[in-house]
Amino acid sequence: MCTVYIGFGSNIDDRLAYIQNAIHALSETEGITLQKVSSVYQTDPVGYEAQAEFLNGVAAIQTNLPPPSLLRTLKDIETLVGRQHRIRWGPREIDLDILIYGDLCLQTERLVIPHPEMHLRHFVLAPLAEIAPDLVHPVLKASVQTLLACLDDRSALKCFYSRWF
Ligand code: ADP
Ligand code: MG
Repeated sequence: MCTVYIGFGSNIDDRLAYIQNAIHALSETEGITLQKVSSVYQTDPVGYEAQAEFLNGVAAIQTNLPPPSLLRTLKDIETLVGRQHRIRWGPREIDLDILIYGDLCLQTERLVIPHPEMHLRHFVLAPLAEIAPDLVHPVLKASVQTLLACLDDRSALKCFYSRWF
């Protein structure tokens, strides 16, 4: 069993409903135990900016699924919940990314772990710091709260929802 952190986001239609459905699907998946879910934050779009505001957060799971199976499972949940194919970095109903998978460092064509941009993003580090402040990034060897304190990205975040359980 390994502790894995999953980043989630949505910026179309009923964003919170997509996120709630995805978290529910994760909790029902064989081989995955949902441990913690951060608050959901409303964030400004990064990159392609002419789109609606995102809701973002992070979940901690325990899993025995190896990384490629976990990625497949996350993609299946995205489809189940209603993700449509669109341009990359564009609007999305639901996005589920593997941020950190135990101490694993992996770089293949399909999968980069830890997620290569996680340490640069306020909308990842703020919710991650809420549920795992002392978690150490396996490549940068710094804790999440240290990475957050050193962050250049100060884009505005506001707490949108936190009544999970
Ligand atoms: P985004 O990069 O904005 O999350 P997608 O969700 O469409 O875009 O993902 C595109 C591809 O990114 C996936 O098909 C997957 O192969 C790849 N990928 C690489 N590393 C990761 C990761 N850590 N978590 C999720 N997807 C990843
Ligand atoms: Mg993704």
